[in-house]
Amino acid sequence: MKPRVAIFDLTSCDGCQVEILNLEDHLLDILGKIDLVNFRIGKEVKEPGPYDIAIVEGSVSKEEEIEKIKKIRDDSKILIALGTCATHGGLQSNIHFMDENEVKKAAYNDKHPQQTRDIKAEPLSKYVKVDYSIRGCPIDKWDFVKVLKQLLIGKLPKEDNNPVCVECRFNENVCQFEEKGKCLGPMTHGGCNAVCPSNNQPCDGCRGPLEDLNLKAGIRIMKENGVSDEEILKMVRKYTGVDELYNKIEELVKNGNN
Ligand code: SF4
Ligand code: SF4
Ligand code: SF4
Repeated sequence: MKPRVAIFDLTSCDGCQVEILNLEDHLLDILGKIDLVNFRIGKEVKEPGPYDIAIVEGSVSKEEEIEKIKKIRDDSKILIALGTCATHGGLQSNIHFMDENEVKKAAYNDKHPQQTRDIKAEPLSKYVKVDYSIRGCPIDKWDFVKVLKQLLIGKLPKEDNNPVCVECRFNENVCQFEEKGKCLGPMTHGGCNAVCPSNNQPCDGCRGPLEDLNLKAGIRIMKENGVSDEEILKMVRKYTGVDELYNKIEELVKNGNN
């Protein structure tokens, strides 16, 4: 019997699922080894659980999604969070730090009916146990292949705990602290081949903070380089601001030179 695998989405842009489709021929190889029983954007099939592996994209942003993710969890042996929306709430979790009415007005303006929002965007882990996170906005499609291969041989993959800086150095990039005075690379999980600094952009931390990050030092260096408090907060909150490791960020930014 092939393992039953289901891919679901909550509030998201579908971008991480599109990355899976971008595997093209490799995806056909994978499909030969699994029984794909749910994948809204990729296959016309929608079977009920139980599932051996559930892969979930998107943040929990509506009441009905709380029930949906709990049901998926109950139905699944292994639950994988796919992409930053699922692992950290993603871009939409900025709503935690903004005036909700202004956001609605900017998004829908006065001419359109405003959508009601019951809860603020949260990662899956706020409501259910997550067995493994495939990080990034979007994910790296090869990360998905690597993780699925490990799961298919009965192993839960181990997380790489290196910062983005490691891959950045391998790529011999000029450091963004020299170029722009800011970068979240030293505090952020690597695995993306330092794609942003390699294209002359600071890392915005989409893969989430390292558990042993030195937040105080990172903030102090950015402040010494003339980056404003507002800009530091905006960078940190862009994708993963609801992570509890950033709980004290406002206080630290305010006292960053102490
Ligand atoms: S993590 Fe990024 S690419 Fe993936 S669904 Fe969310 S917004 Fe889209
Ligand atoms: S550019 Fe960013 S990720 Fe690269 S070495 Fe400098 S601080 Fe680290
Ligand atoms: S460099 Fe940073 S922002 Fe860019 S993909 Fe990697 S973790 Fe995400």
